[in-house]
Amino acid sequence: MKNEYDVIIVGGGPAGVAASLSCRRSNLEVLLIDKKPMEEIGDKVCGEAISKKTSHFVSEKLGIKPPSGNEINVLVEDLVLRTSLPMDHITLPAIGYMVDRHKYGQRLLHDTINLGTKVLDVTKVIKPILENNKVSGVIVKNSAGEEVEYFAKIVIDCSGVMGVIRTKLPDEFEPILSKSLTKSDYASCYREIIQLKEEHGLDGKIVLQYEEDIPEPGYIWFFSDGKYKLNCGTGFIKEGNNQNKSVKKVYFDTMEKYYPKGSYETLDGRGGIVSIRPPLWNAVAPGFIVAGDAAFHADPLTAEGHGPALIAGYFAGLVAKKAIEQNNYTTEKLWEYNKLIISNFGAEHARSRILTITLERIGPRNLEFLLKRGVVKQSDLTSKGIMKKRSIFNYLMLALRCFPKYSLLLLMKKAIDTSKSVAKHCLEYPNSPAEYRDWQIKMDLYYSKIHGK
Ligand SMILES: Cc1cc2nc3c(=O)[nH]c(=O)nc-3n(C[C@H](O)[C@H](O)[C@H](O)COP(=O)(O)OP(=O)(O)OC[C@H]3O[C@@H](n4cnc5c(N)ncnc54)[C@H](O)[C@@H]3O)c2cc1C
Repeated sequence: MKNEYDVIIVGGGPAGVAASLSCRRSNLEVLLIDKKPMEEIGDKVCGEAISKKTSHFVSEKLGIKPPSGNEINVLVEDLVLRTSLPMDHITLPAIGYMVDRHKYGQRLLHDTINLGTKVLDVTKVIKPILENNKVSGVIVKNSAGEEVEYFAKIVIDCSGVMGVIRTKLPDEFEPILSKSLTKSDYASCYREIIQLKEEHGLDGKIVLQYEEDIPEPGYIWFFSDGKYKLNCGTGFIKEGNNQNKSVKKVYFDTMEKYYPKGSYETLDGRGGIVSIRPPLWNAVAPGFIVAGDAAFHADPLTAEGHGPALIAGYFAGLVAKKAIEQNNYTTEKLWEYNKLIISNFGAEHARSRILTITLERIGPRNLEFLLKRGVVKQSDLTSKGIMKKRSIFNYLMLALRCFPKYSLLLLMKKAIDTSKSVAKHCLEYPNSPAEYRDWQIKMDLYYSKIHGK
Protein backbone atom coordinates (compact mmCIF):
# COMPACT_ATOMS: atom_id res chain seq x y z
CA MET A 1 0.00 0.00 0.00
CA LYS A 2 1.38 3.42 -0.88
CA ASN A 3 1.95 5.88 1.90
CA GLU A 4 1.19 9.26 0.28
CA TYR A 5 -2.29 10.61 -0.46
CA ASP A 6 -3.99 13.93 -1.15
CA VAL A 7 -6.15 13.56 1.94
CA ILE A 8 -6.04 11.30 5.01
CA ILE A 9 -9.28 10.98 6.95
CA VAL A 10 -9.15 9.64 10.49
CA GLY A 11 -12.38 7.80 11.37
CA GLY A 12 -15.08 6.15 9.28
CA GLY A 13 -18.17 7.49 11.13
CA PRO A 14 -20.60 9.84 9.35
CA ALA A 15 -18.11 12.75 9.30
CA GLY A 16 -15.34 10.55 7.85
CA VAL A 17 -17.40 8.87 5.15
CA ALA A 18 -18.96 12.20 4.08
CA ALA A 19 -15.51 13.82 3.94
CA SER A 20 -14.16 10.93 1.86
CA LEU A 21 -17.13 11.00 -0.54
CA SER A 22 -16.78 14.75 -0.85
CA CYS A 23 -13.04 14.43 -1.65
CA ARG A 24 -13.57 11.56 -4.08
CA ARG A 25 -16.19 13.58 -5.96
CA SER A 26 -13.27 15.94 -6.67
CA ASN A 27 -11.03 13.02 -7.68
CA LEU A 28 -8.67 13.47 -4.76
CA GLU A 29 -6.73 10.42 -3.59
CA VAL A 30 -8.17 9.51 -0.21
CA LEU A 31 -7.07 7.19 2.58
CA LEU A 32 -9.65 6.61 5.33
CA ILE A 33 -8.31 4.99 8.49
CA ASP A 34 -10.41 3.37 11.23
CA LYS A 35 -9.42 1.35 14.26
CA LYS A 36 -12.44 -0.96 13.85
CA PRO A 37 -12.63 -3.97 11.55
CA MET A 38 -14.33 -3.12 8.26
CA GLU A 39 -17.62 -4.87 9.10
CA GLU A 40 -18.00 -2.99 12.42
CA ILE A 41 -17.45 0.51 11.02
CA GLY A 42 -20.62 2.59 11.35
CA ASP A 43 -21.87 0.74 14.43
CA LYS A 44 -22.15 3.12 17.37
CA VAL A 45 -24.09 3.61 20.59
CA CYS A 46 -26.62 6.19 19.52
CA GLY A 47 -30.21 7.42 19.87
CA GLU A 48 -30.41 6.69 16.11
CA ALA A 49 -32.81 9.57 15.38
CA ILE A 50 -31.72 11.55 12.35
CA SER A 51 -33.25 14.50 10.56
CA LYS A 52 -34.71 13.95 7.12
CA LYS A 53 -33.80 17.45 5.95
CA THR A 54 -30.13 17.06 6.81
CA SER A 55 -29.62 13.52 5.56
CA HIS A 56 -31.36 14.32 2.26
CA PHE A 57 -29.42 17.58 1.83
CA VAL A 58 -26.09 15.79 2.22
CA SER A 59 -27.13 12.80 0.11
CA GLU A 60 -28.00 15.12 -2.74
CA LYS A 61 -24.71 17.01 -2.43
CA LEU A 62 -22.68 13.79 -2.29
CA GLY A 63 -24.68 12.00 -4.98
CA ILE A 64 -25.69 9.08 -2.76
CA LYS A 65 -28.99 7.54 -1.68
CA PRO A 66 -30.59 8.96 1.48
CA PRO A 67 -31.44 6.41 4.21
CA SER A 68 -33.87 3.86 2.78
CA GLY A 69 -35.20 0.30 3.03
CA ASN A 70 -33.98 -1.65 6.05
CA GLU A 71 -31.68 1.23 7.07
CA ILE A 72 -34.84 2.93 8.43
CA ASN A 73 -36.64 1.45 11.44
CA VAL A 74 -39.51 3.95 11.80
CA LEU A 75 -40.36 7.55 10.94
CA VAL A 76 -40.00 10.39 13.44
CA GLU A 77 -42.46 13.29 13.54
CA ASP A 78 -42.12 15.11 16.86
CA LEU A 79 -39.53 16.07 19.43
CA VAL A 80 -41.25 16.22 22.81
CA LEU A 81 -39.79 17.91 25.89
CA ARG A 82 -41.51 16.63 29.06
CA THR A 83 -41.15 17.28 32.75
CA SER A 84 -42.41 14.77 35.27
CA LEU A 85 -46.07 15.35 34.48
CA PRO A 86 -47.44 12.60 32.26
CA MET A 87 -48.25 14.85 29.33
CA ASP A 88 -46.53 16.27 26.27
CA HIS A 89 -45.54 19.71 27.42
CA ILE A 90 -43.62 20.99 24.45
CA THR A 91 -43.85 19.36 21.06
CA LEU A 92 -41.62 20.59 18.28
CA PRO A 93 -41.69 19.28 14.71
CA ALA A 94 -38.76 16.93 14.06
CA ILE A 95 -39.28 15.13 10.78
CA GLY A 96 -36.82 12.31 10.36
CA TYR A 97 -36.00 8.68 10.82
CA MET A 98 -35.02 6.18 13.45
CA VAL A 99 -32.25 4.42 11.57
CA ASP A 100 -30.24 1.27 12.02
CA ARG A 101 -26.91 3.05 12.37
CA HIS A 102 -24.84 0.02 11.64
CA LYS A 103 -26.63 -0.80 8.37
CA TYR A 104 -26.74 2.85 7.28
CA GLY A 105 -23.10 3.35 8.28
CA GLN A 106 -21.97 0.26 6.37
CA ARG A 107 -23.80 1.40 3.27
CA LEU A 108 -22.17 4.85 3.43
CA LEU A 109 -18.80 3.15 3.85
CA HIS A 110 -19.38 1.00 0.78
CA ASP A 111 -20.60 4.04 -1.18
CA THR A 112 -17.24 5.69 -0.57
CA ILE A 113 -15.23 2.51 -1.27
CA ASN A 114 -17.12 2.13 -4.57
CA LEU A 115 -16.14 5.68 -5.41
CA GLY A 116 -12.45 4.87 -4.94
CA THR A 117 -11.66 5.64 -1.27
CA LYS A 118 -8.94 3.37 0.13
CA VAL A 119 -9.84 2.10 3.60
CA LEU A 120 -7.35 0.94 6.17
CA ASP A 121 -9.26 -0.86 8.96
CA VAL A 122 -8.05 -2.31 12.29
CA THR A 123 -5.53 0.54 12.28
CA LYS A 124 -5.29 2.94 15.18
CA VAL A 125 -4.12 6.46 14.47
CA ILE A 126 -1.75 7.45 17.24
CA LYS A 127 -0.58 10.95 16.48
CA PRO A 128 -0.04 13.57 13.79
CA ILE A 129 3.15 14.12 11.82
CA LEU A 130 4.18 17.78 11.70
CA GLU A 131 6.56 19.17 9.09
CA ASN A 132 7.33 22.85 8.50
CA ASN A 133 4.59 23.85 10.94
CA LYS A 134 1.98 21.93 8.94
CA VAL A 135 0.14 18.67 9.60
CA SER A 136 1.56 16.43 6.93
CA GLY A 137 0.41 12.96 7.94
CA VAL A 138 -0.30 10.51 10.73
CA ILE A 139 1.47 7.76 12.60
CA VAL A 140 -0.63 4.62 12.98
CA LYS A 141 -0.38 1.30 14.77
CA ASN A 142 -1.44 -1.41 12.35
CA SER A 143 -3.06 -4.78 13.13
CA ALA A 144 0.42 -6.35 13.53
CA GLY A 145 1.26 -3.75 16.20
CA GLU A 146 3.78 -1.95 13.96
CA GLU A 147 4.03 1.83 13.75
CA VAL A 148 3.71 3.12 10.18
CA GLU A 149 3.73 6.65 8.74
CA TYR A 150 1.24 7.90 6.14
CA PHE A 151 1.53 11.31 4.49
CA ALA A 152 -1.04 13.68 2.98
CA LYS A 153 -1.51 17.27 1.85
CA ILE A 154 -4.45 17.56 4.25
CA VAL A 155 -5.49 15.50 7.28
CA ILE A 156 -9.15 15.57 8.37
CA ASP A 157 -9.80 14.53 11.97
CA CYS A 158 -13.17 12.71 12.09
CA SER A 159 -12.23 10.49 15.02
CA GLY A 160 -15.21 11.34 17.25
CA VAL A 161 -15.33 13.17 20.59
CA MET A 162 -11.77 12.20 21.61
CA GLY A 163 -10.39 14.07 18.58
CA VAL A 164 -7.28 11.93 18.41
CA ILE A 165 -5.26 14.26 16.16
CA ARG A 166 -6.54 17.61 17.42
CA THR A 167 -5.82 16.78 21.07
CA LYS A 168 -2.29 15.55 20.26
CA LEU A 169 -1.12 18.66 18.45
CA PRO A 170 1.47 20.69 20.37
CA ASP A 171 0.16 23.82 22.12
CA GLU A 172 2.33 26.14 20.07
CA PHE A 173 1.00 24.77 16.78
CA GLU A 174 -1.71 27.15 15.52
CA PRO A 175 -2.53 28.83 18.85
CA ILE A 176 -6.10 29.61 17.78
CA LEU A 177 -6.97 25.93 17.43
CA SER A 178 -8.14 24.50 20.76
CA LYS A 179 -6.41 21.21 21.57
CA SER A 180 -8.13 20.61 24.88
CA LEU A 181 -10.84 18.17 25.82
CA THR A 182 -12.36 18.78 29.24
CA LYS A 183 -14.97 16.83 31.18
CA SER A 184 -17.53 19.58 30.61
CA ASP A 185 -17.22 19.09 26.83
CA TYR A 186 -19.08 15.79 26.81
CA ALA A 187 -21.65 13.65 28.58
CA SER A 188 -21.04 10.02 29.47
CA CYS A 189 -24.10 8.02 28.44
CA TYR A 190 -25.72 4.65 28.84
CA ARG A 191 -28.18 3.58 26.16
CA GLU A 192 -30.47 0.56 25.74
CA ILE A 193 -32.72 -0.72 23.02
CA ILE A 194 -35.64 -2.38 24.76
CA GLN A 195 -38.56 -4.53 23.64
CA LEU A 196 -41.65 -3.83 25.76
CA LYS A 197 -44.39 -6.30 26.55
CA GLU A 198 -47.03 -3.59 25.93
CA GLU A 199 -47.26 -0.77 23.42
CA HIS A 200 -45.53 2.38 24.64
CA GLY A 201 -47.85 4.76 22.78
CA LEU A 202 -45.06 7.10 21.70
CA ASP A 203 -45.30 6.37 17.97
CA GLY A 204 -43.43 8.93 15.88
CA LYS A 205 -42.07 10.67 18.95
CA ILE A 206 -38.63 11.24 20.34
CA VAL A 207 -39.05 12.27 23.96
CA LEU A 208 -36.65 14.10 26.26
CA GLN A 209 -37.94 13.54 29.77
CA TYR A 210 -36.45 16.06 32.22
CA GLU A 211 -35.76 14.70 35.70
CA GLU A 212 -34.66 16.37 38.93
CA ASP A 213 -32.22 13.54 39.71
CA ILE A 214 -30.35 13.56 36.39
CA PRO A 215 -27.43 16.01 36.25
CA GLU A 216 -26.82 18.31 33.26
CA PRO A 217 -28.21 18.11 30.59
CA GLY A 218 -30.85 16.56 32.83
CA TYR A 219 -32.98 14.14 30.84
CA ILE A 220 -33.62 10.51 30.00
CA TRP A 221 -34.63 9.93 26.39
CA PHE A 222 -37.32 7.61 25.04
CA PHE A 223 -37.19 7.36 21.26
CA SER A 224 -39.91 5.29 19.63
CA ASP A 225 -38.29 2.60 17.50
CA GLY A 226 -41.52 0.70 16.73
CA LYS A 227 -44.77 0.14 18.64
CA TYR A 228 -43.10 -2.05 21.28
CA LYS A 229 -39.51 -0.93 20.91
CA LEU A 230 -37.71 2.01 22.49
CA ASN A 231 -34.23 3.41 22.20
CA CYS A 232 -33.69 4.94 25.63
CA GLY A 233 -30.83 6.23 27.68
CA THR A 234 -29.37 9.00 29.71
CA GLY A 235 -26.08 10.74 30.21
CA PHE A 236 -24.55 13.65 32.00
CA ILE A 237 -21.41 15.70 32.45
CA LYS A 238 -19.26 13.85 34.97
CA GLU A 239 -17.60 16.64 36.87
CA GLY A 240 -17.80 18.25 40.30
CA ASN A 241 -20.34 16.49 42.55
CA ASN A 242 -21.34 14.21 39.71
CA GLN A 243 -17.96 12.81 38.77
CA ASN A 244 -18.39 9.60 40.74
CA LYS A 245 -22.07 9.12 39.98
CA SER A 246 -22.79 5.99 37.96
CA VAL A 247 -24.61 6.74 34.71
CA LYS A 248 -26.01 3.20 34.64
CA LYS A 249 -27.44 3.54 38.16
CA VAL A 250 -29.07 6.89 37.33
CA TYR A 251 -30.49 5.27 34.16
CA PHE A 252 -31.94 2.20 35.90
CA ASP A 253 -33.33 4.23 38.84
CA THR A 254 -35.13 6.55 36.41
CA MET A 255 -36.35 3.69 34.21
CA GLU A 256 -38.10 2.14 37.21
CA LYS A 257 -40.48 5.15 37.23
CA TYR A 258 -41.55 4.64 33.63
CA TYR A 259 -40.72 1.08 32.52
CA PRO A 260 -40.07 -1.06 35.58
CA LYS A 261 -37.95 -4.20 35.41
CA GLY A 262 -39.96 -7.09 34.02
CA SER A 263 -41.94 -4.88 31.62
CA TYR A 264 -39.30 -5.17 28.92
CA GLU A 265 -36.41 -7.17 27.51
CA THR A 266 -33.08 -5.47 26.77
CA LEU A 267 -31.91 -6.09 23.21
CA ASP A 268 -28.73 -4.01 23.45
CA GLY A 269 -27.17 -2.01 26.28
CA ARG A 270 -23.92 -0.04 25.92
CA GLY A 271 -22.13 3.09 27.06
CA GLY A 272 -20.94 5.99 24.90
CA ILE A 273 -20.00 9.64 24.96
CA VAL A 274 -21.56 12.60 23.23
CA SER A 275 -20.37 16.18 22.91
CA ILE A 276 -22.46 18.72 24.71
CA ARG A 277 -20.95 22.10 24.04
CA PRO A 278 -20.99 24.72 21.32
CA PRO A 279 -18.94 23.87 18.22
CA LEU A 280 -15.21 24.43 18.06
CA TRP A 281 -15.22 28.06 16.89
CA ASN A 282 -12.07 27.45 14.86
CA ALA A 283 -11.65 23.96 13.42
CA VAL A 284 -8.72 24.46 11.03
CA ALA A 285 -4.94 24.72 11.20
CA PRO A 286 -2.24 24.41 8.52
CA GLY A 287 -2.94 21.19 6.60
CA PHE A 288 -5.65 20.22 9.06
CA ILE A 289 -9.47 20.23 9.40
CA VAL A 290 -11.63 18.85 12.22
CA ALA A 291 -15.16 17.56 11.52
CA GLY A 292 -18.06 15.91 13.36
CA ASP A 293 -17.86 15.06 17.06
CA ALA A 294 -14.12 15.77 17.03
CA ALA A 295 -15.14 19.43 16.50
CA PHE A 296 -18.17 19.19 18.87
CA HIS A 297 -20.64 19.40 16.01
CA ALA A 298 -23.54 17.63 17.79
CA ASP A 299 -26.56 19.68 18.87
CA PRO A 300 -26.04 20.30 22.61
CA LEU A 301 -29.78 20.00 23.36
CA THR A 302 -30.77 16.84 21.47
CA ALA A 303 -27.32 15.24 20.86
CA GLU A 304 -28.22 15.10 17.17
CA GLY A 305 -24.76 14.78 15.69
CA HIS A 306 -25.12 12.37 12.79
CA GLY A 307 -26.51 14.93 10.33
CA PRO A 308 -24.13 17.72 11.38
CA ALA A 309 -21.22 15.26 11.05
CA LEU A 310 -22.28 14.46 7.47
CA ILE A 311 -22.56 18.15 6.64
CA ALA A 312 -19.21 18.97 8.24
CA GLY A 313 -17.54 16.13 6.35
CA TYR A 314 -19.02 17.36 3.10
CA PHE A 315 -17.74 20.93 3.73
CA ALA A 316 -14.33 19.64 4.82
CA GLY A 317 -14.00 17.87 1.46
CA LEU A 318 -14.98 20.99 -0.48
CA VAL A 319 -12.49 23.17 1.34
CA ALA A 320 -9.71 20.54 1.07
CA LYS A 321 -10.23 20.39 -2.68
CA LYS A 322 -9.81 24.17 -3.09
CA ALA A 323 -6.69 24.18 -0.92
CA ILE A 324 -5.12 21.33 -2.91
CA GLU A 325 -5.95 22.98 -6.25
CA GLN A 326 -4.11 26.09 -5.10
CA ASN A 327 -1.38 24.24 -3.24
CA ASN A 328 -2.13 26.45 -0.23
CA TYR A 329 -2.71 24.72 3.13
CA THR A 330 -2.61 27.71 5.46
CA THR A 331 -5.17 28.45 8.16
CA GLU A 332 -6.23 31.49 6.07
CA LYS A 333 -6.95 29.27 3.08
CA LEU A 334 -8.97 26.74 5.11
CA TRP A 335 -10.82 29.45 7.08
CA GLU A 336 -13.86 29.25 4.81
CA TYR A 337 -14.68 25.93 6.52
CA ASN A 338 -15.42 27.72 9.82
CA LYS A 339 -17.77 30.13 8.09
CA LEU A 340 -19.61 27.28 6.37
CA ILE A 341 -20.06 25.45 9.69
CA ILE A 342 -21.22 28.51 11.64
CA SER A 343 -23.72 29.56 8.99
CA ASN A 344 -25.06 26.06 8.37
CA PHE A 345 -25.64 24.70 11.88
CA GLY A 346 -23.02 26.22 14.21
CA ALA A 347 -25.04 29.31 15.13
CA GLU A 348 -28.12 27.17 15.88
CA HIS A 349 -26.05 24.86 18.08
CA ALA A 350 -24.46 27.81 19.85
CA ARG A 351 -27.95 28.96 20.86
CA SER A 352 -29.02 25.43 21.65
CA ARG A 353 -26.26 25.39 24.26
CA ILE A 354 -27.69 28.57 25.82
CA LEU A 355 -31.04 26.77 26.03
CA THR A 356 -29.55 23.66 27.70
CA ILE A 357 -27.71 25.78 30.27
CA THR A 358 -30.94 27.70 30.97
CA LEU A 359 -33.08 24.56 31.29
CA GLU A 360 -30.51 23.14 33.70
CA ARG A 361 -30.53 26.33 35.77
CA ILE A 362 -34.33 26.47 35.85
CA GLY A 363 -34.65 22.77 36.76
CA PRO A 364 -37.57 20.43 35.95
CA ARG A 365 -39.85 21.57 38.82
CA ASN A 366 -39.63 25.23 37.91
CA LEU A 367 -39.97 24.37 34.25
CA GLU A 368 -43.21 22.61 35.07
CA PHE A 369 -44.37 25.72 36.92
CA LEU A 370 -43.51 27.95 33.96
CA LEU A 371 -45.29 25.65 31.53
CA LYS A 372 -48.41 25.29 33.67
CA ARG A 373 -48.68 29.06 34.06
CA GLY A 374 -48.11 29.57 30.33
CA VAL A 375 -45.00 31.70 30.96
CA VAL A 376 -43.08 29.49 28.53
CA LYS A 377 -44.88 28.29 25.42
CA GLN A 378 -43.90 25.94 22.70
CA SER A 379 -43.46 28.77 20.20
CA ASP A 380 -41.00 30.54 22.53
CA LEU A 381 -38.49 27.73 22.09
CA THR A 382 -38.27 27.96 18.31
CA SER A 383 -35.73 30.29 16.67
CA LYS A 384 -38.52 32.68 15.71
CA GLY A 385 -39.91 32.65 19.24
CA ILE A 386 -36.57 33.48 20.82
CA MET A 387 -35.87 36.27 18.34
CA LYS A 388 -39.38 37.76 18.77
CA LYS A 389 -39.51 41.37 19.99
CA ARG A 390 -41.34 41.62 23.31
CA SER A 391 -43.07 44.76 24.56
CA ILE A 392 -43.12 46.06 28.15
CA PHE A 393 -46.74 44.87 28.23
CA ASN A 394 -45.61 41.31 27.33
CA TYR A 395 -43.15 41.35 30.20
CA LEU A 396 -45.76 42.67 32.65
CA MET A 397 -48.11 39.85 31.68
CA LEU A 398 -45.31 37.31 32.10
CA ALA A 399 -44.36 38.82 35.45
CA LEU A 400 -47.94 38.43 36.69
CA ARG A 401 -48.02 34.81 35.62
CA CYS A 402 -44.63 34.20 37.18
CA PHE A 403 -45.71 35.40 40.64
CA PRO A 404 -44.03 34.71 43.10
CA LYS A 405 -41.01 33.26 41.23
CA TYR A 406 -39.74 36.46 39.64
CA SER A 407 -36.15 35.25 39.56
CA LEU A 408 -37.18 32.74 36.89
CA LEU A 409 -38.42 35.54 34.70
CA LEU A 410 -35.09 37.34 35.05
CA LEU A 411 -33.25 34.14 34.16
CA MET A 412 -35.41 33.67 31.09
CA LYS A 413 -34.93 37.26 30.01
CA LYS A 414 -31.17 36.85 30.36
CA ALA A 415 -31.31 33.63 28.31
CA ILE A 416 -33.33 35.24 25.53
CA ASP A 417 -31.07 38.29 25.41
CA THR A 418 -27.94 36.13 25.39
CA SER A 419 -29.36 33.86 22.72
CA LYS A 420 -30.04 36.88 20.49
CA SER A 421 -26.56 38.29 21.11
CA VAL A 422 -24.94 34.94 20.30
CA ALA A 423 -26.96 34.65 17.07
CA LYS A 424 -25.88 38.16 16.05
CA HIS A 425 -22.26 37.46 16.99
CA CYS A 426 -22.27 34.32 14.85
CA LEU A 427 -23.35 36.43 11.88
CA GLU A 428 -20.27 38.56 12.53
CA TYR A 429 -17.88 35.58 12.39
CA PRO A 430 -14.51 36.96 11.22
CA ASN A 431 -13.46 36.71 7.60
CA SER A 432 -9.89 35.83 8.51
CA PRO A 433 -7.93 34.31 11.42
CA ALA A 434 -6.39 37.74 12.17
CA GLU A 435 -9.70 38.99 13.61
CA TYR A 436 -10.52 35.77 15.43
CA ARG A 437 -9.18 36.35 18.95
CA ASP A 438 -11.34 39.40 19.68
CA TRP A 439 -14.39 37.63 18.30
CA GLN A 440 -13.75 34.56 20.44
CA ILE A 441 -13.22 36.57 23.64
CA LYS A 442 -16.59 38.25 23.13
CA MET A 443 -18.28 34.89 22.51
CA ASP A 444 -16.74 33.38 25.66
CA LEU A 445 -18.12 36.34 27.63
CA TYR A 446 -21.68 35.56 26.53
CA TYR A 447 -21.32 31.99 27.79
CA SER A 448 -19.76 32.94 31.10
CA LYS A 449 -22.63 35.40 31.70
CA ILE A 450 -25.29 32.76 31.12
CA HIS A 451 -23.37 30.35 33.37
CA GLY A 452 -23.74 33.05 35.99
CA LYS A 453 -19.98 33.56 36.34
C1 LIG B 1 -25.64 7.82 23.58
C2 LIG B 1 -25.62 8.62 22.31
C3 LIG B 1 -26.83 8.96 21.69
C4 LIG B 1 -26.82 9.68 20.50
N1 LIG B 1 -28.00 9.94 19.85
C5 LIG B 1 -27.99 10.53 18.65
C6 LIG B 1 -29.19 10.66 17.89
O1 LIG B 1 -30.26 10.19 18.28
N2 LIG B 1 -29.13 11.29 16.69
C7 LIG B 1 -27.97 11.78 16.20
O2 LIG B 1 -27.96 12.36 15.10
N3 LIG B 1 -26.81 11.66 16.89
C8 LIG B 1 -26.81 11.04 18.10
N4 LIG B 1 -25.63 10.89 18.78
C9 LIG B 1 -24.42 11.54 18.28
C10 LIG B 1 -23.84 10.81 17.09
O3 LIG B 1 -23.68 9.47 17.39
C11 LIG B 1 -22.49 11.47 16.74
O4 LIG B 1 -22.65 12.86 16.72
C12 LIG B 1 -21.96 11.00 15.41
O5 LIG B 1 -21.71 9.63 15.39
C13 LIG B 1 -20.65 11.75 15.11
O6 LIG B 1 -20.05 11.22 13.97
P1 LIG B 1 -18.47 11.29 13.79
O7 LIG B 1 -18.22 10.70 12.45
O8 LIG B 1 -18.00 12.64 14.09
O9 LIG B 1 -17.86 10.35 14.93
P2 LIG B 1 -18.09 8.82 15.23
O10 LIG B 1 -19.40 8.34 14.74
O11 LIG B 1 -17.81 8.66 16.67
O12 LIG B 1 -16.97 8.08 14.39
C14 LIG B 1 -15.62 8.15 14.74
C15 LIG B 1 -14.88 7.03 14.06
O13 LIG B 1 -13.48 7.22 14.31
C16 LIG B 1 -12.89 5.98 14.64
N5 LIG B 1 -11.73 6.26 15.48
C17 LIG B 1 -11.71 6.83 16.71
N6 LIG B 1 -10.45 6.93 17.16
C18 LIG B 1 -9.66 6.42 16.20
C19 LIG B 1 -8.25 6.22 16.10
N7 LIG B 1 -7.39 6.59 17.08
N8 LIG B 1 -7.77 5.65 14.98
C20 LIG B 1 -8.61 5.26 13.98
N9 LIG B 1 -9.93 5.40 14.05
C21 LIG B 1 -10.46 5.99 15.13
C22 LIG B 1 -13.99 5.22 15.37
O14 LIG B 1 -13.77 3.83 15.31
C23 LIG B 1 -15.23 5.66 14.58
O15 LIG B 1 -15.51 4.78 13.53
C24 LIG B 1 -25.59 10.14 19.96
C25 LIG B 1 -24.40 9.81 20.60
C26 LIG B 1 -24.41 9.05 21.75
C27 LIG B 1 -23.11 8.68 22.39
